[in-house]
Amino acid sequence: MAIFSPPRYQAPFKPYNREDISSFMKVFTAGEGLIKGVLFGCRMCGNCILQETAFVCPMTCPKGLRNGLCGGATPEACEVDATRPCTWYKIYKRAERMGRDHKLLEINAPLDGARVGRETWLDVIRTWRKTEGSPRFIEFFTNREKFDEDWERIFYKVRQPDWWQGDSEYHPPAYEEPISLLEANLRTGEFTCTAEIAPPLSVSTQSISEKSEFLREYVPAANFTDNASASARMGSIASSKICLDSGLEPVMQLQARDRSRVVIESDAMGAAGLGIKNILCLSGDHHRFGPAPMTKPDQFDMDAIQILWMLRRMRDEGIYLDGRPIKQRPEFFLGAAASPFGAPPKYEAIRAEKKINAGAQFIQTQPIFDYDGFLNWLEALDKRNLLDKVYILAGMIPLKSAKAAHYMADDVPGVAIPAEIVQRMDAAGDKDGQMEEGVAIALEMIEKLKKTPDISGIHFMAVHWEAIVPRLMDEGGLPKIQVKSLPLEEVSEVAR
Ligand code: SF4
Repeated sequence: MAIFSPPRYQAPFKPYNREDISSFMKVFTAGEGLIKGVLFGCRMCGNCILQETAFVCPMTCPKGLRNGLCGGATPEACEVDATRPCTWYKIYKRAERMGRDHKLLEINAPLDGARVGRETWLDVIRTWRKTEGSPRFIEFFTNREKFDEDWERIFYKVRQPDWWQGDSEYHPPAYEEPISLLEANLRTGEFTCTAEIAPPLSVSTQSISEKSEFLREYVPAANFTDNASASARMGSIASSKICLDSGLEPVMQLQARDRSRVVIESDAMGAAGLGIKNILCLSGDHHRFGPAPMTKPDQFDMDAIQILWMLRRMRDEGIYLDGRPIKQRPEFFLGAAASPFGAPPKYEAIRAEKKINAGAQFIQTQPIFDYDGFLNWLEALDKRNLLDKVYILAGMIPLKSAKAAHYMADDVPGVAIPAEIVQRMDAAGDKDGQMEEGVAIALEMIEKLKKTPDISGIHFMAVHWEAIVPRLMDEGGLPKIQVKSLPLEEVSEVAR
């Protein structure tokens, strides 16, 4: 155990190239690594953000997340390795104690590979010496405010490279007309629903076409997961294109796991070229949750917040991460996921704020079974003035069986099902009885969600039971798709 952080999960990084490292620097770097290892569990990532994370090293997180916790974190343990505490819980708690929680909002860059495995202390000194108006130690005693400002400027330079320039500000989209049908429908202010279609396990595209066919009268868009639970199936880009060709707009899920930044950029550009506009950005489930054989560790180059930041800049500023200009910019309507029951609402709200600031325009949540808990999460978002900056679609999974209810209650991270609901499913009798009880529970929740201010709709995740969505929408009195084509005259201007 390091003094200020959980222990390292993986070995320290080594530099890509050692040609320019002198013997002195090798010894210096080893000494720095030793001291920082004991203090912070440092992996020598060379891209230090300790000042932003209350001096707990985020690189001790098994996913290497640099912008907040994942959906499965608990106060007791990390979702990947239960023998460890969650690094990000420690960060939030220590930041609160130290009064540094405002620092958690800055959007941190992914690692710069050229810096990994190298020392950072001399880098700080070099930046300090090169920067005009560097802090003067005497001012720590005579003019503390100025000293703090100058100090912050130096360390901002060190941790935020020119190609990233992350901050803690809200960046609204830089366009006027709605980019997609989903966006156009949400802008009408009418309650809007989306539905998930499970990408097939085979090469047959028929199931997507059939489901798109009956859903397109009801919803403006359907989600396609991206190898969820680290389990391979038809990819989300291909599934999304088949859906689009079948007359229904897709929401393509794009996750960080298994993709480098280069592939994320190229997949997003390819999707935009194919006409896929709605992109939901995710960090992704760890490989631990997938079937064997498991891949080698460290499959995360970025996280969801970093993807949002990068894609928004590609769209609004017309640049790749490396600064190359994009002649014809992609059009993305960007979304994110949220886990109202993952961590205490105040922590989840910080993560939601970062996603919205980075570029998330809509949020689809994990399934809601505990309505009061959902309201607590909304209240936490409201306290941060987020509700008028994003469209929120409450997640809904209609329960098909008592077994499914038990599985979700016990084994799915970030899902909370009250015991009373599990009991109702247990007492519902045979298979048909359980399905009907699942429908009744869903309809009761629809009734509450319909009347909930500050949300824009419902996202149905009826995996392998997509045919139930039209019934739930009809019996629940939910409006069908309002705007069926672009361009639009009838859609109101952006109400934000
Ligand atoms: S629970 Fe998630 S955020 Fe927390 S340390 Fe584990 S992987 Fe990282």
